[in-house]
Amino acid sequence: MENTPEQSCLFCNITAGDSPSEVVYRDDHVVAIKDIKPQAPVHVLVIPREHDLESLNDASGLDENLLGRLLYTAAKVANIMGIAESGYRVVINTGEAGGQTVPHLHVHVLGGRQLNWPPG
Ligand code: AMP
Ligand code: ZN
Repeated sequence: MENTPEQSCLFCNITAGDSPSEVVYRDDHVVAIKDIKPQAPVHVLVIPREHDLESLNDASGLDENLLGRLLYTAAKVANIMGIAESGYRVVINTGEAGGQTVPHLHVHVLGGRQLNWPPG
């Protein structure tokens, strides 16, 4: 039997609990995990459980709830990780030039140090 995209997707396997990860928050819709290669003292990925969208660029008006939920969850994660007061950055790498490497929509939450602008 052929693998579905979901079965071969790293983040689908992580949200299903089939691949190891350090979970910092989970609910019925999203799972937030520590990034395996952190770019800041706090680096968390907020991942929707559903593999509906490979990237932000695939979103339609039907996805407004999901997109709002991801941002709201990013703020919750910042509170959980203790970086809400000092400040943090929320990033969605999109497509090749945007630096996206995993084709399952996700939001980066970065903080715990002074972040530079412009980003690299
Ligand atoms: P992006 O490059 O925006 O698609 O983000 C993918 C992120 O997933 C990168 O920051 C990787 O370091 C991270 N990553 C890759 N594999 C894993 C893993 N097994 N557990 C946690 N984070 C991972
Ligand atoms: Zn997936």
